Amino acid sequence: VNFKDLGISNDILKALEKLEYFVPLEVQKQVIPFILKNKDLIVKSQTGSGKTAAFAIPLCEKIEIEHKKPQALILAPTRELALQIKEDVSHIGRFKKVRATALYGRHPIDMQKRDLKQRVHVIVGTPGRTMDHIERGNLDINEIKYLIIDEADEMLNMGFIDQVEGIIKKLPDDRVTLLFSATMPERIEEICNAYMINSKRIEV
Ligand code: AMP
Repeated sequence: VNFKDLGISNDILKALEKLEYFVPLEVQKQVIPFILKNKDLIVKSQTGSGKTAAFAIPLCEKIEIEHKKPQALILAPTRELALQIKEDVSHIGRFKKVRATALYGRHPIDMQKRDLKQRVHVIVGTPGRTMDHIERGNLDINEIKYLIIDEADEMLNMGFIDQVEGIIKKLPDDRVTLLFSATMPERIEEICNAYMINSKRIEV
C-alpha cells in the first residue's frame, strides 16, 4: 500500500513526496485508516517508528482549513518533542496551509499568546503551559475535535499525568482521543478507561 491507497489526498501527498516519505511505515499503515474514521485509538509504539507522522498525516487530512480555530490538541512531555511535532505537522500540512503552534514552558507567555491569535488549526503543547493558556483564556478549546496524547508513559514518569487529566476534563466530550505510549502502566490504562470510548488497540 501507498499513502494514496490509505485515503490521503493530493495536497498532503505532495508534501509527503517532498519529505521523501515514499511509503507508509508499519505504524502508519495500521493507524492512519482508523484516525480517518474518527476512532479512539491506543497505540503502543516506540519513538523512531514513525508515530508522529502516523497521527500528523491523518490529522492534517482532517483539518477544516477554512475553519480558523484550534481543532486538534497534541500533548507532549517535553518542549523538544512539542517543537518537533509542530515542525512535522507544518511540513506535512504545508500545501494545505495547515497552521500549527507550540506551547511550552520557560518561554515568554505573551509571545505564545500572540501566536494563538494568528488563527492556528493545531496546538502542540506541554501540559503545564497548555493548561496555563487555557486558564488565562488565551487558548480556545471549544472546537477541539482531536486530542492526541503522545508519549503518555513519559508524561507519567515526569509527573505531568494529573495535568494531562485536568486538560482532558476541560475539552469537549464530542472529540476523538488518540493515545500513544511505549509502555502501558496502570495509571495510563486508567486514563484510557476513563476518557476514551470503544477504543481500538494497536501494537507495533
Ligand atoms: P518518529 O517515530 O515520529 O520520531 O519518526 C522517526 C523518523 O522517521 C523521523 O525522522 C521521520 O522523519 C521518519 N519518517 C516518518 N515516516 C516516514 C516514512 N513514511 N518514510 C520515511 N521516513 C519516515
